This record gives sequence, C-alpha cells and structure tokens, in this order.
Amino acid sequence: MSAAAELAALDAAAPAPIEKAPLKALVPEILAGGRDPFAAPGDAGNLVGLSRAELAEALREAGERPESLRMRANQLFHWIYNRGAKSFAEMSSINKGLQARLAERYRIGRPEIARALKSFDGTSKWLLRFRDGEEAETVHIPEEDRGALCVSSQVGCTLACRFCHTGTQKLVRNLSAAEIVGQVLIARDGLGEWPAPDEGRLLTNIVMMGMGEPLYNYENVAKALKIVMDGEGISISKRRITLSTAGVVPMIERCGAELGVNLAVSLHAVTDELRDVIVPLNRKYPIAELLAACRRYPAANNARRITFEYVMLKGINDSPAEARELVRLLDGIPAKVNLIPFNPWPGAPYECSSPAAIRAFAQIVNDAGYSSPVRTPRGRDIMAACGQLKSDSQRKRKSARAATD
Ligand code: SAH
Repeated sequence: MSAAAELAALDAAAPAPIEKAPLKALVPEILAGGRDPFAAPGDAGNLVGLSRAELAEALREAGERPESLRMRANQLFHWIYNRGAKSFAEMSSINKGLQARLAERYRIGRPEIARALKSFDGTSKWLLRFRDGEEAETVHIPEEDRGALCVSSQVGCTLACRFCHTGTQKLVRNLSAAEIVGQVLIARDGLGEWPAPDEGRLLTNIVMMGMGEPLYNYENVAKALKIVMDGEGISISKRRITLSTAGVVPMIERCGAELGVNLAVSLHAVTDELRDVIVPLNRKYPIAELLAACRRYPAANNARRITFEYVMLKGINDSPAEARELVRLLDGIPAKVNLIPFNPWPGAPYECSSPAAIRAFAQIVNDAGYSSPVRTPRGRDIMAACGQLKSDSQRKRKSARAATD
C-alpha cells in the first residue's frame, strides 16, 4: 500500500468518539529512509552543529596543516562550546593568520532572537528566528538548585495531538543540528554562563520537550545532543538530558542504545480508543507496542526510570478507574508518572481536571508504588508552559503581506 493510501485507510478505520484528529501525524516514508519532506535547509559555513571531525575538515579547507588539525579542532570546539565565543577574533589561543582565514570562510552562527520574554516566576522564553525566517521557541525553567532548558526539535509538529497548541501550527520542518545546539548557546548567552560555573549553574538539564517530535528528527537531534554531552564543551551529561516522545516506536531503542538519555513518553490515555483521538500517532504505534518498546529501553533501570507524561483533561482521561488501569499497564516497567495539568490556549477543546481529580488520580498511582508528581505549570503568563508553544510567524507573515498590499 502506498503511504497515502495507508494514511487514508487508517483515517477511515479510526474511531471518533470526540472528533477525529487529522492523520498528518504519520510519516512512514521518513522512517523508511526515503526523501525527508521536512528536511532542514542547509547552512554552509556555519561551524555550530559540526562534529569534531567536521571541524577538522573545515580547518583543512582553511589551509591548516594536517598535523595540527586535531589540536586546532579541539581548540575551536572549546572556544565555541565552553567559552561561548561569537567571533574568531576572540579566540586568543589561535594565531591571527588562522583567525583571518577562518573568518573568510566561516561563521559561528546563532539563531536570531525574535522575542525574549520573562515570566513572573523566573521562566524565560525565547522565540528564535532561523536563517530562512522560520521560528521556534526555547524555554528556560529555573529551580532552586538547577535549571532545565526545554529545547525544540522542529518548527511546528506533525503529530497534531488534540490538546497541544503546537499541533495546530501548519508549517513544519525539522531543525538542523546547528539550530538545536543554537538554542542552548542562546540560553547560555542569556544566562551569562560562559564558561559555566562548577557550582550554582542556572542551566543544568536539557529536556527535549519543546516544539516538535524529536524522534521524527532523530539524526539532527542525535548529532546536537552528542555535542551538548561532550565534556570539553557544554558538558551536560546524558543523565541530565531527557528526550520526550509521543511514541515513535521504531526509534526508541536506537535512542537508548546510541544516546543513552532519559526517556519520557507522552502517554496521556490508557485505552487505544481514546489515545487514537488525542495522540493520533497511536493509530500507527498503539499502546501495547509502545509499552513493549519501553520495557526494552536500554538506558532505563530502577535508578533511571522512564517518565510517563499524562496530561489531566477534565472528564476525558482523569477518572480513578483510568488511574488504576495506568498502574496495571506500567507493571514491570521502571517508571514514574508525571501528571501535567492541562495548560489552556486560545480555542483549546479541553479543560483542565479539577485539583481534587488530579489529587485522587495521583494518590492511586502513588499508592501503587510509582512516584507521581504533579507538574507545576511554569511560565503560563508568557505562554511558555507545556503545549502552549507556537511560533507566530504565520500571523506575522500575514500582517507583513497586509502591510505591503
Ligand atoms: N513530541 C514530544 C515532545 C513534546 S513534549 C512528545 O509528545 O512527547 C511536550 C509535552 O507537553 C508532551 O507530553 C505533551 O503531550 C504535553 N502537552 C502538550 N500540550 C499540552 C497542554 N496544553 N497542556 C499540558 N501538557 C501538554
């Protein structure tokens, strides 16, 4: 069956208890290794996002001698990712001649900050604009003794989860490794952490929980995370990185084996009937297959549990019976459950569960031996909370067109 016919057949077969979500979520051709319709544009000349081997190649092209390529690549890596250098001129350990040759050919390219907002609770949000004008958001969430950066993997998202604002954005493309690492550079610039202090760091953790589905952009996400983990640069360990997926089952094992990062799974429902509607990707990879992949996840154990995210939707998925079913499903998985109060957005079709319903749900999960913290919404006032991210580039484009008409 062709991909299009497969989508149509799945769409027709799917139950529609609420309202059927569109099935643009399913992109089997990408996983089959075909041409990627969401490919990030090229960014020739940008050194950000290159591996050490690629940096060495760039140096060779700039005329550096073969015997010093390795040392120079290490120096460049250190300047870009440990010191946060924005220009070659400030790289004092590199001679002026080489600085000039590098500057002729290359850039240390960061995304442009289209808008920066700060919440009353300390949360920061940056709307970033990339070279082709597309935009994505990055959020820094400070806590008492640490801080997480919520990083986007795509402009928009194909998954169209019913409760998520990003899913209503039409335009989608993958972010390049440079654009993903660039989000971390921008945050460190803003937090003034070059080089990062040993103690009291504001940016200690990375969560791949911003816009997009990271496992639909695996290659770029993996390349970016390897740079972020490198101990000579940004140096955030895999134990402090969490990748959140709606359940792209074929990529989960690879993620665990190659990156070894913590896994979070956006479960949100305990029956396929409901999950098919609120997380349409479930029609491709149903709950049983998803949980089987979690049971096999190479980087999980009792000390490093898989986080199951569960958004609390009033009257939809928040009953005590569903909490008990969740406990039954998770049996045998080293798991913790993160209950996320639904964050509203303009025109959203759901409401947040009552505090009493959330408490009762959490109690059942907790009594079964799973830690079940309720996520405190952060940055709601600047639309930076879970599921509220959406670039307004489309609206801007419309108003720009109106202005020139
Ligand atoms: N595509 C990945 C990464 C996004 S992470 C994934 O699905 O896991 C963002 C998290 O916020 C997901 O668990 C998502 O389901 C959740 N979320 C989305 N919209 C939300 C909303 N309006 N309120 C609360 N949580 C939401």
